Amino acid sequence: KSRPGVAELDPSRLNVTVTQSPKSIPPVETLKFGQTMTDHMLIASYDPEHGWSDPEIKPYGPICLDPASSCFQYSTNVFEGMKAYVGPDGEVRLFRPDLNMARMRRSAGRVALPPFDTDALLTLIQRLVQLESRWIPNIQGYSLYLRPTIIGTRPNLGVTASDHALLYVICSPAGPYFGAGSARQISLLANVDVVRSWPGGTGGYKLALNYAPTLKPQQSAELQGYNQVLWLLDGKVTEAGAMNFFAVVKQDENNWDVITPPLDGTILPGVTRDSCIALSAAHPSRTTLPHLPETLHLHAHERTLTMSDLKQWHAEGRLLEAFTVGTAVVVTGVGRIGYDRTDIVLPEHACGRGPVARALYERIVEIQEGKFEWEGWS
Ligand code: PMP
Repeated sequence: KSRPGVAELDPSRLNVTVTQSPKSIPPVETLKFGQTMTDHMLIASYDPEHGWSDPEIKPYGPICLDPASSCFQYSTNVFEGMKAYVGPDGEVRLFRPDLNMARMRRSAGRVALPPFDTDALLTLIQRLVQLESRWIPNIQGYSLYLRPTIIGTRPNLGVTASDHALLYVICSPAGPYFGAGSARQISLLANVDVVRSWPGGTGGYKLALNYAPTLKPQQSAELQGYNQVLWLLDGKVTEAGAMNFFAVVKQDENNWDVITPPLDGTILPGVTRDSCIALSAAHPSRTTLPHLPETLHLHAHERTLTMSDLKQWHAEGRLLEAFTVGTAVVVTGVGRIGYDRTDIVLPEHACGRGPVARALYERIVEIQEGKFEWEGWS
């Protein structure tokens, strides 16, 4: 809570200015992730004297900031990534948005940005999404990507907490992340020279400052013919690109382990990660995942996963699948992991995902689009 006497973020004080010149929506085939912005944005500012300003939804456009602003000088930038989906029933849904709101508040706290009422922000986002709903392509796999952002705007070069902030949300229509109809498995290059996160660091928060140092290694992985970087810390797998990582390891025909690294502070607590763990653990006792036999038991584990583990399981023929998960990609199969000058090559699957990745992908999309009801997630 803010100090007494200063205003909370308050959806009942929302001002809406609708654009006079709505954009034409580009054909879905031409959509590239993050390229097209919708007509409107949500914005509110914070200063220590007044607290949160009355929120506004207004036409999308540039914002004007003092060049000394904390965000430019000291990277006080926090963001979220979430999506609005429209189902065959025409209803618009958000997927577990309470988790994004809570994560955003935690991230803001980590860089000493002011707190905000997470329910209030969610209500405001719902208003924005309602206004922009014509932008959500009613096609499976398409959605409206939402980018809530909070930045420090204290116009002062002192290295101190920013007591001024700007909160805004912009929206961008999105298709399948790795291209429409892409049925291929992605390749990962394990990076042994550069780490993304470390104990006591900020890897567990969604801070912009975590991403800038990954751009060069990502370029380098692409030049070597891989899609994404597999991030390691002392030989332990942490994440892949901006996604969480899973391996499926066979105990026997009817018992498969679904393993992802634990939230030890070096890993972003992904919403999709949490959903994959919960759905895996529920098969077959609480629900049957698409195409998986009821005789198969999935055992979900959050445990340390090393490159030696992956190599050993692969050599024993027990590494059935690896996949990466996140809001943008949902669940994507991994076909190849480059490490130590060789490749761990995983079985190829016609649909680009092994059986567990496919089951999780299909079930999560069904929940997101309102075709399957699960724990009030949508
Ligand atoms: N790891 C990182 C570093 C990310 O940026 C993201 C995307 N937010 C994820 C994992 C996946 O998280 P989520 O499932 O919440 O999108």
